[in-house]
Amino acid sequence: MNIAAYMSQLAQKIGGVYVPKCTTFKETYQTATKHVVFGAYKGYLVALALTQAGRTAGFVMLVRYPRAPMAPPLQEAFKARPGFSSFFGKKVDGVMVSWTYALTKPKLEEIAGLLDAVIEEVSKAVPPFSGRCEDCSTAEAREITLMNGMPGYHCLACQMRVAAEKQREADEYKAKDANYVVGLGAGLVAAAVAGSAWGWLISLMEADSGKWYPQVHAVMGVVLSIPICWLMFKAIGKRDRVGQVLAIVLTLAAKWWGDAIYFTYVKMHFAELAFSWQLLGSVVRHFWEYQFLSGGRIFVAVCDVVIALAVPWMPWGKLPKFVPVFQTINPDGSLSQTLTDGAATR
Ligand SMILES: [Zn+2]
Repeated sequence: MNIAAYMSQLAQKIGGVYVPKCTTFKETYQTATKHVVFGAYKGYLVALALTQAGRTAGFVMLVRYPRAPMAPPLQEAFKARPGFSSFFGKKVDGVMVSWTYALTKPKLEEIAGLLDAVIEEVSKAVPPFSGRCEDCSTAEAREITLMNGMPGYHCLACQMRVAAEKQREADEYKAKDANYVVGLGAGLVAAAVAGSAWGWLISLMEADSGKWYPQVHAVMGVVLSIPICWLMFKAIGKRDRVGQVLAIVLTLAAKWWGDAIYFTYVKMHFAELAFSWQLLGSVVRHFWEYQFLSGGRIFVAVCDVVIALAVPWMPWGKLPKFVPVFQTINPDGSLSQTLTDGAATR
């Protein structure tokens, strides 16, 4: 059974809607950004999705309840089950249960059975939604609304209020002073330290053995960009476009500085030379000859550039997002954004 047919049947089973495209589990499971079944089941909000982490397929179940003074003691109830993990959302009131499977997707009856069991445990501690907005608890709200992909009940007035508050926060953040001089200094230090560490470590690993692991060379830019972004944005005081451009340049500079150290070690090994700053200087002057020595190295250089340019999209390099997106679920599984011309759209 293909995914769409499977999820449609699951939707039917719990009286929910199959939404092929949404971002509900994006932060938890990189690849499970689509194929989610949403439903209001026994008064609780439910989201069910197939997951894929590397080669491991799994299933995830989210049960949301209204704001509660204490989380239901679900861990205890499910701890005994093998291959099972449950955790509570930090930002939302809800519980997430996930497990992996080897070949065949879990049977729909199994999922429904488990859902019943989870909800039974939750209901011992938290009452179900009462048909009112979970923010103001007064306005009626019977339609599931996704807030940044997370199912909930939010009346239109509260949506507008939250969007306006967040917009104000975003404006304040934008107006904050940015200290680029200190930021650039901090970024340079981070790039120098991280780049030197990379060059030195990979030299120890490879230069004498004559081996070379192109995969390590190709992805190292990602690793180097983390301390650079972290330190630099902290020193700048906020994240903005200027900082992102600096992050791109510094990431590439750090990687290639490390590469220069590595090329120097390789040369030392082959020419049986001792380390000298003159040697390092000559490698730096002829850096492109070393960098473009072979197809493999050209490939690595291209990866370096692509990775550096992608830093603004990485979690440690992207701009903070303030204004939430509210969506309602249509019966055909598509989503409609509410507040189309309000503060929520930018
Ligand atoms: Zn409300």
